[in-house]
Amino acid sequence: MTDGARAATRTGQPPREAETHCPYCALQCGMVLRDTDDGRIEVQPRQFPTNRGGLCQKGWTAADLLDHPDRLTTPLVRDPSGTLRPATWAAALDRIVDGLRTVQRAHGRDAVAVFGGGGLTNEKAYALGKFARVALRTRHIDYNGRWCMSSAAAAGLRAFGVDRGLPFPLTDLGRTDTLLLVGTNPAETMPPLMRHVTDQRARGGRLIVVDPRLTATARQADLHLQPLPGTDLAVANALLHIALTEGLIDREYVAARTEGFDAVRRTVAEYWPAEVERLSGVPVADLEATARALGTAGSAMILTARGAEQHAKGVDTVSAYVNLALALGLPGRPHSGYGCLTGQGNGQGGREHGQKSDQLPGYRKIDDPAARAHVAGVWGVDPAELPGPGVPAYQLLDSLGTPDGPRALLVFGSNPVVSAPRAARVESRLRGLDLLVVADFLRSETAELADVVLPVAQWAEEDGTMTNLEGRVLRRRALRRPPPGVRTDLTVLADLAARLDAPDPVPTGPAAGPAVDRFPTDPRVVFAELRRASAGGVADYAGVSWERIESADGVFWPCPDPDGPDSPRLFADTFPTPTGRARFHAVRHRPAAEPVCADYPLHFTTGRVLAQYQSGTQTRRVDALRRAAPHGFVELHPDLATRLGVGDGDEVRVASRRGELRAPARLSPTIRPDTVFAPFHWPGAARANSVTNDALDPVSGMPEFKICAVRVERA
Ligand code: SF4
Repeated sequence: MTDGARAATRTGQPPREAETHCPYCALQCGMVLRDTDDGRIEVQPRQFPTNRGGLCQKGWTAADLLDHPDRLTTPLVRDPSGTLRPATWAAALDRIVDGLRTVQRAHGRDAVAVFGGGGLTNEKAYALGKFARVALRTRHIDYNGRWCMSSAAAAGLRAFGVDRGLPFPLTDLGRTDTLLLVGTNPAETMPPLMRHVTDQRARGGRLIVVDPRLTATARQADLHLQPLPGTDLAVANALLHIALTEGLIDREYVAARTEGFDAVRRTVAEYWPAEVERLSGVPVADLEATARALGTAGSAMILTARGAEQHAKGVDTVSAYVNLALALGLPGRPHSGYGCLTGQGNGQGGREHGQKSDQLPGYRKIDDPAARAHVAGVWGVDPAELPGPGVPAYQLLDSLGTPDGPRALLVFGSNPVVSAPRAARVESRLRGLDLLVVADFLRSETAELADVVLPVAQWAEEDGTMTNLEGRVLRRRALRRPPPGVRTDLTVLADLAARLDAPDPVPTGPAAGPAVDRFPTDPRVVFAELRRASAGGVADYAGVSWERIESADGVFWPCPDPDGPDSPRLFADTFPTPTGRARFHAVRHRPAAEPVCADYPLHFTTGRVLAQYQSGTQTRRVDALRRAAPHGFVELHPDLATRLGVGDGDEVRVASRRGELRAPARLSPTIRPDTVFAPFHWPGAARANSVTNDALDPVSGMPEFKICAVRVERA
């Protein structure tokens, strides 16, 4: 932190300059914000280990939204005519509390639900989970991170006993000999990450990319495997099959550090490369070259992302790549291992502190009696009063307004009308609610449906912490206060809790700490409580303080002791499983939930573009980004386009069994001729999630965003 910013923080005045991080993706690039004399806010990149002085276009323009004319600065309440009208905070909060009480009186506590977001700070994610369980006493809370990370999280937990996206610092990428990227396109989604890949290539390392599209990342690769969407698991099993037949397995590592290999060995024996070539379209020679590049390298890394994970078999697909990494002896070895590239800004921290339906802070399980007792002690409630597990995000949204589902929903930092799979159905569920409340700083498509909209602060107006894709806890610093009329999410939760008469806490047990407000509004106080609540958990933040984060480039969890080390690299000696060994899981390929057929003969897949982010609520309003990526499109191979009689720029209709999207065709030879692609950032006619499939992974609840069957025609 610069002297100016540090001094300003000490005096309690908002600083003229703040060292912080980009509000968008999980790379959390370091940046400096400056208030200029002419009233603008200047963004400058700064040196930080993840971005090394780089920013993408989204980061450079992030401050454009602070004074944007669409910014919400007053609460909105829907009047009897159905129009959202400005209201006082008192009127808006009263309307919410009346609605919540009415619903809970008539239908029980679980008739109210909470839906959070992977962009919320750790403090807000923690407070939201506590608010649901203590103030509303509902079991129904989940968040949009379920659609981002949950398959990799579940696979990591069952193999390693811990879910931390990267179990090593990002800088290790630059030192690995072979880097295998599966279903990820960082050159578009997080461009500064490619600096590490450039280092890796400059040192003579090999880059191999698995992606159905020849993406900007795949173009830089030594080898590009272009499988049919939904066949990544079979590809991984074939790679392990080849590694076995060619004697590339690290038998000593497997014997000493793992368990369950025999079942995997028997399973992958069935995955003959020639058969996997027929299934996936990846030539045997490319499979062999990949297995050899991984198995003979001095160091090697396998990283997956949404392309492999957002499937109804996402957990098993990740497990197949984890199996490969374990069989080659990679996890825990220098510059080697398996990792997952988290997407949302606080996708990692957001899933550690209680926003997930089955979790309590510190990555504790909500059905574990010891975990309940510990957290209840910190919260000052009887463990018996804590609700049990709820249901994952899509199941929760799909149950809204139905006889057995919640009738009121509070949404913080999410826009499911655009981002949910089978979005038209979710939209109709939201419309059927007795009460929908949205806290946001812009009128998202979900806010447009709300009964009450609460204007909340933006990233540059709040202090707090975020946890990036490496499990590194970072400081988000406020540059200025929220504008008049705007409150922070923490204040909103405290105001609602007070109106709901949430009882004062009676902290008990060794982790209880001092008596504090039930719902403190100072993020530093919330973080202190979070530390106590996470102490002893898998994601232990007890030794992390804001001061410690500021004195270094962040702190890696687990960090149980304020005076002890943090954990940049995991698994060097042991795995946090009951036996200390990593666990193999035998997994088999299965077809996509919805196979192609005569009526729907093409595969449909979705993803992101460089200039837009998630549901686009923010980035669609930034002029420079709108100019760069003004609207949705449908990417088709020219051969397919010829067959369909579609020219470049023609409007096409993509229809699945669930709905359709319309957007201009973009012809590209970089996509498979049997597959079409659309980015998911746009609402309305171009909404890609009108088409996607809501089939869920049975373990993680991840929807099958990445493949369904469609037909395409000129509109
Ligand atoms: S969007 Fe991601 S890659 Fe781009 S500047 Fe922000 S954190 Fe960095």
